[in-house]
Amino acid sequence: MQELPQLKSIEFLPGVGPVKAKVLASELHIYTFQDLLDYFPFRYVDKSKFYQVREIVSDTAFVQLKGNLIKVNEMGSGRSLRLTAIFEDRTGQIELIWFKGIRWIKPTLKYNQTYIVFGKPSLFNGKWNIAHPEMELESSARIKLGSNFKPVYNTSEKLSSKGLHSNGIAKLTQNLLPQIKGAIPETMPKWMLDKFQFPDRESSYMSIHAPVNAEDQVKALNRFKFEELLYLQLILYKQKINQTTRTPGVRFAKVGQLFNAFYEEHLAFDLTEAQKRVVKEIRADLNAGYHMNRLLQGDVGSGKTIVAVLSALLAIDNGFQVCLMAPTEILAQQHLETFTELLSKLEVKVALLTGSVKKSNRTPIHEGLESGEIDILIGTHALIEPGVQFKNLGIAIIDEQHRFGVAQRAKLWKKAVLPPHILVMTATPIPRTLAMTVYGDLDVSVIDELPPGRKEVKTVHRTDANRLNVFAFLKQEIEKGRQIYIVYPLIEESATLDYKDLMDGYESISRSFPPPHFQIGIVHGRMKPEDKDYEMRRFAKGETNILVATTVIEVGVNIPNSSVMVIESTERFGLSQLHQLRGRVGRGADQSYCILMSGEQVSQDAQTRIQTMCRTTDGFEIAEVDLNLRGPGDIMGTQQSGITDLRVADLTKDQEILKTARYTARDILEKDPDLELTENQLIKKNLALALKSRPNWSKIS
Ligand code: ADP
Ligand code: MG
Repeated sequence: MQELPQLKSIEFLPGVGPVKAKVLASELHIYTFQDLLDYFPFRYVDKSKFYQVREIVSDTAFVQLKGNLIKVNEMGSGRSLRLTAIFEDRTGQIELIWFKGIRWIKPTLKYNQTYIVFGKPSLFNGKWNIAHPEMELESSARIKLGSNFKPVYNTSEKLSSKGLHSNGIAKLTQNLLPQIKGAIPETMPKWMLDKFQFPDRESSYMSIHAPVNAEDQVKALNRFKFEELLYLQLILYKQKINQTTRTPGVRFAKVGQLFNAFYEEHLAFDLTEAQKRVVKEIRADLNAGYHMNRLLQGDVGSGKTIVAVLSALLAIDNGFQVCLMAPTEILAQQHLETFTELLSKLEVKVALLTGSVKKSNRTPIHEGLESGEIDILIGTHALIEPGVQFKNLGIAIIDEQHRFGVAQRAKLWKKAVLPPHILVMTATPIPRTLAMTVYGDLDVSVIDELPPGRKEVKTVHRTDANRLNVFAFLKQEIEKGRQIYIVYPLIEESATLDYKDLMDGYESISRSFPPPHFQIGIVHGRMKPEDKDYEMRRFAKGETNILVATTVIEVGVNIPNSSVMVIESTERFGLSQLHQLRGRVGRGADQSYCILMSGEQVSQDAQTRIQTMCRTTDGFEIAEVDLNLRGPGDIMGTQQSGITDLRVADLTKDQEILKTARYTARDILEKDPDLELTENQLIKKNLALALKSRPNWSKIS
């Protein structure tokens, strides 16, 4: 059988050879004809359109102009030698500039002749210029065959040095297209192509690399985006079907004594409507006989912990054990305290297992778990170490899941004969469209209501010039008995400098808030866990007025008496981090404040982040802004999912296509869950291929 041409090694494409093949592989991971085919242009230039000089504005990319040269000048000498020409059309002038090849360019430049000039304008000293433009006399302009709509490919210095600048890559794709003609298999059934009026796969590739016009190119691109999202959604939907109807799970049939006693007698407040709804959803899942895989989203302070407690009691009532994983020691400790206190009147045994629990103290915990004596094990990732064996783990509750990877979750799975139910709690709101993709196979519950009586945190932006006023305000709050966080950024790459900023800040704060009247604590990642713990504890007990910290306090810490959050160098924090930090205050009955400190000058993006924080406390709204600023790849919780390594589709920009793909996938699988109908055979085959080439997609939960 003859090899499919698209599987051939790229080395054998006319114009490539061993040298170029090597850089294509190392720089772009292009090994085969197919890989090159899938290397899409990142944009196109339309050489059928002429711009006028006065139309050039700050975000104009490449322009094609028509006009005359009026003044050619050589300036500077030696290395700073350059050639400039003033180019003019009826609407204005722009400077053309050359730093190289001056000797042979200069004699070719002619006055009184119309030129066609093509290049990228840039602003220098308040004036527009185009460096090294492509130029052609209008009179001798080649009559171009084919299209004026040209692809532009991303390239690198290394590629360019081997002749593979954008045009060089374009030449290769032009060589490639005739080679694969007639050999590109279709991946969507005819009924689908007809329904959405998509071009077939082969002509789509042609329209991507050699488009006749923008319209065809866009149609082709949308086809590839849809295809990618469709198969992703099919995979997610299939998993969901398997999950909810086929994976058996332990059944928590009864609502027992512990749950009822706690609910009726020991709950200090009424649940919010949202909490009640979520508890009902979870109860229904746990009693269904199938494995639960549920994501609980609720903004900071919305009261997820109590939902975890009630879910745990359901498990224990039915004779099962519970584990609760938190991302940090501090949080695990805090959960232990909350659980111990809430359950103090009930016969429930709670234990803690974190990295700092000594070996000798672990043995009784291991034994207690294996005998079933311990009902609830709370801890960090130490919970998933090999020595930990439960007698019968019924549910694993994971707090702030974005800190746990897929692989870690899978380890939990192995700890029971039937997989334990999974409840993942997160305070990082994820926009709906993204959630349905990233967590397409999870059921999602949302607590969209804060407990009553919460006052919105007042948020303001202040610069260093206002520092004295800010400190005066802090003193007032301390006089009222409130406590204050002051948080410094800590970015891995500039850690040393960041620690210096933190320590400098700590010293300056200590001078402004001197002992014994004021007590100041500090916590950061370089401290020993015991010391960190000691400082946190002092703050929690109200012994310190101010806690100076890095983002170690970001997640989940609950100290209701702290009412002011000061964030230093706000411009360096991401939105979701800022939102998390602000969530540390506003937990008590008092008015709380968040003061965002920054330098006088901040970037456009930073300004948007700061303004967003001052405008709203709604986590979902903030998440939408974040998604638009950063794109989905950086949103917490999505990195490990492997979802964001989409080739063509962009989850931010292609939400409409995403929705269509989702509904299409759902319709297909609802009608034909095992893809047995003739009309779905092509889909079935390609789904198998997609799963093979994108192994991550099958491991999302
Ligand atoms: P998060 O969702 O951020 O984990 P927590 O579970 O820590 O929030 O709850 C924040 C605070 O709100 C806690 O002090 C908790 O006791 C309190 N709380 C939770 N639910 C309610 C409620 N329905 N009414 C009043 N207070 C509540
Ligand atoms: Mg919490």
